[in-house]
Amino acid sequence: MRGVVSEIGLEREEGRFHSFRVKVGITLRMENSMDYEEGERAVKRLRRELLGREVELEALTYRCPICGRGFNSEMGLKIHIRRSHREKP
Ligand SMILES: [Zn+2]
Repeated sequence: MRGVVSEIGLEREEGRFHSFRVKVGITLRMENSMDYEEGERAVKRLRRELLGREVELEALTYRCPICGRGFNSEMGLKIHIRRSHREKP
């Protein structure tokens, strides 16, 4: 089954925070149509399989092109490259 991310919402807004909740809406497209009950069963299964799972969000990660390590800011990545990959003359 394939889906399209169709909605992203921020649920909590404060000045600065270490964690925040983002609601992601995904529109699933399937070959055969399903009725409401089948849809509910599918959602129950998604909850069972996805809730509590840790995921890495590529879109929010600045990835080092040399070693692949991920950073949550451009600055962090720059410092890493300077410290770890700077070529010595
Ligand atoms: Zn690196």
